[in-house]
Amino acid sequence: MMDFRVGFGYDSHRFAPGRPLVIGGIVIPYELGLAAHSDGDVLIHAVCDALLGAAGLKDIGTWFPDTDAAYKNADSTLLLAKVVELVHGKGWQVNNLDCTLVLERPKMKPHIDDIIAKLSQLLETPTENIAVKAKTNEKMGFTGAGEGIAAVAAVTLRK
Ligand code: MG
Repeated sequence: MMDFRVGFGYDSHRFAPGRPLVIGGIVIPYELGLAAHSDGDVLIHAVCDALLGAAGLKDIGTWFPDTDAAYKNADSTLLLAKVVELVHGKGWQVNNLDCTLVLERPKMKPHIDDIIAKLSQLLETPTENIAVKAKTNEKMGFTGAGEGIAAVAAVTLRK
């Protein structure tokens, strides 16, 4: 009998000048980045929370507090690698990941395959089990106004 878990994650960050835009571990050419204690990788943070939630390991703030100087401008892919280690340590394997970015701009289509490849590597899960979508919010709310980016992620784990 296979044991199975579902996890869900959400994150959002505000655009800020003078920072690189990093989404899903990929640097996206754009005039604004995301304000954060870490590199502000909104997608990776949502994925971390989905994984931690599924494994019963609380949340990203518990493991990597934004009051800790060690995580200043941290590369979020390193945080995700640590989260995957924790999840594996509990005996879980990532079965699949499905996530959505909500933003008006920049256009994500040219970068989606690179992000999927990066997530596949980090999650040790085949690319066909990973989906990354991007959509606008039809000009509504903070994402629609171009104030920032939101990301949601759902993950399943198996053991
Ligand atoms: Mg975050």
